[in-house]
Amino acid sequence: MDNIYNIVSDMDVPVGMTVRTKCPNCGERTFTVTNNMGSLVWNCFRASCNVKGGTRVRISVDDIRAGFGGVQEFAEDTFDLPPYVVDNLDNLFLKRFCATWGIDPKELGLMYDVKEDRLVFPIRHEGRIVDATGRSLSKRLPKWKRYGKSGLPYTSGCGKVAVVVEDCLSAAVVGYGTFVGVALLGTSLQESHKRYLSQFSTAIVALDPDALPKTLLMAKELRGHVNDVRVLRLTDDLKYRNPTDMENLHGIINH
Ligand SMILES: [Zn+2]
Repeated sequence: MDNIYNIVSDMDVPVGMTVRTKCPNCGERTFTVTNNMGSLVWNCFRASCNVKGGTRVRISVDDIRAGFGGVQEFAEDTFDLPPYVVDNLDNLFLKRFCATWGIDPKELGLMYDVKEDRLVFPIRHEGRIVDATGRSLSKRLPKWKRYGKSGLPYTSGCGKVAVVVEDCLSAAVVGYGTFVGVALLGTSLQESHKRYLSQFSTAIVALDPDALPKTLLMAKELRGHVNDVRVLRLTDDLKYRNPTDMENLHGIINH
């Protein structure tokens, strides 16, 4: 603990700032140090580590003035998941939830929000996590929480055919083989979605069955960006793996 105290004091965290860094104890990037008007607090949010502590540090009058802006979330301006979103997937409710939907959280690179008890679907762009969305595993609302503001869709899989769906679960279910599940995380098609989808030569729009007019409209809109746009008429949401729907999905690309 003496060691951590020294490391944290040496970091010179400015007043009103939180810095996220590698944990001196477990080595994960789940360690934060906050300087709240000279009260230095540190925490590791990894469940199996949980190092925490605090001390007072000397601050100047200028520091105090600068600190009146209140504590800022993070010093870095690039997106970082909150430190309480961790790789550890050992939570029982998480396991049950994934088993129910037939998805492998490890294979999909999913994460767990220990603070709000959410299954987190990271949104990756050029190898980096730029955003994420988390599904509540308890009664906590909202059911889905967005962590960033990238506007990018959640995607799953590495095939050549995009399957446009509404939610992450459907994207995860459908993202195998030739398919990439692309979840809009809502029902509207945004500019960022169109830009992302333009890299595919084929896109299949497969929204909920009750959203057919919207599906047709979206397909029309996408035709300006993707060569081959198809509409899959669903009997059920794709995440339910209705056999007829799955058969039609495979049939659609063989025509
Ligand atoms: Zn740690």
